[in-house]
Parts: sequence; C-alpha cells; structure tokens
Amino acid sequence: MRPYILAETNWKHIRDAKVDLVVLPWGATEAHNYHLPYGTDVIEADFIAAESARVAWEKGAKVVVLPTIPFGVNTGQADIKLDINLNPSTQFAILSDIIDVLNRQGIYKLIILNSHGGNDFKTMIRELGLRFPKMFICSCNWFQSLNKALYFEKDGDHADEMETSLLQFLKPELVLALSEAGDGREKKMKIKAFSEKWVWAERKWSQISADTGVGDPRAATKEKGEKYFKAVTEKIGDLFVDLSLADINDLYE
Ligand SMILES: [Zn+2]
Repeated sequence: MRPYILAETNWKHIRDAKVDLVVLPWGATEAHNYHLPYGTDVIEADFIAAESARVAWEKGAKVVVLPTIPFGVNTGQADIKLDINLNPSTQFAILSDIIDVLNRQGIYKLIILNSHGGNDFKTMIRELGLRFPKMFICSCNWFQSLNKALYFEKDGDHADEMETSLLQFLKPELVLALSEAGDGREKKMKIKAFSEKWVWAERKWSQISADTGVGDPRAATKEKGEKYFKAVTEKIGDLFVDLSLADINDLYE
C-alpha cells in the first residue's frame, strides 16, 4: 500500500493525513501506431505520477495522486476506430467537480499531470481560477519536461521513439516487435505557416499518418526508456516538493 496513491490507501490513513498537493493524472485512450497499446497515455500517466509522487513523498512532501482519467480530447481522430473522445467541455465539468471537492475540504493545491497532446487545460484553469479563488491550479505536460533530443535519436509526438522506449521499459508485455511498427511518417500541411508553428489548426489524424503514429519508433530501446523515465520522474518529483512547500499567497519574488 503506497500512502500517496489514493486508490491504494484507506480512510484510516487519509482521515488524519495532511495533504498539501493533489495530483490528477490525465490520459487518453487511442491508437498508437501498430505496435503500442491504446492505453499508452494512461500507462505513462500512472507510472510517471506514482514514481514522481514516491520521489516527493520520500523528501517529505504530503502529496496524493488521484486515479488517472482514462479518456482525453480526440476530436481530430473521429474516424479512427475506438479512439474515445472526451470533449473539452466534458473535461471542464469533470475538473470543476474535482476542484469543488478539494476547495470545500481546504486542499488548495492541484496539479494536472497531462499525458496526451490533445488535452489542453490552460483556458479551463483560467476560468476555474475565477470560480475558486482560493485554489492554486496548474498543469504539467510531462513529455515537455526534458529536452527529448538528449535521450532519443528521432523526434515525434505520438507513438514515437520516446513513447515506444517508455512502454518497452514500463509494460514490455504490451509492446509488439518493432518489425510490426509503421514508420510514423507525418504529412505536413502544404501551407508553410503551420509548420512554423505560429498558425495552428487541429491535425486530421487519418490524413497525416498512415499508421496513426507521428515519429519513427524504430530506434527505441527499453534502456533509453528507463533512463528517460528516471530523469522525468526525478524532475517532476522535485516539482511536487516545490509545490507542496509553496505558500500560494506568496508565489512571486
Ligand atoms: Zn501517447
């Protein structure tokens, strides 16, 4: 029983426990090239949240991890079989209800640990911050916490070398042989401004990738996954410590 994982702990422990920071991991359930499981983002969220919380707990941080929300925003993948979409307005409703509980019970710090590129909590946090002025709400994309180029050869953002390496380390029994994987080639928009990233439109996933992947996974190894996992969870663990200790009424220099 890990006391910092809510789903594993009990009322006997929680009733009198001090809780400074709540972590809400948020995933997605979607195709990940041919070789990775639909639950890839959920598995990553579960493991990264738990290990980061362990790191923080051992440094004295009073942190609690909620169960991972398994569905994310998949509006760009409406025609990809069994990619389950949660609309942003549904996410907003879920988030409001969770924050309502924390706010009522005087637990004022929440971090959303996001595991899926289609999830975007910024505008929700702005609106919920107005509604719950005592709360400090933040979100973290763990996949942006480190410079991936220092760990992996090939760039990508979906079922790429990074995600494949992580899954090879975390859940090897759910990863097919790399010979089964597609090359994850992404077709770019003809209008150049989109590649320059100062104009944005949602990608129509079935048109930009033949295998649903974006990023060549074939140089993945479990050793790379292990090294990256340790570095990411150390960094996020330290963030959890900083947030747990922070005085939310005195955040600025
Ligand atoms: Zn993913």
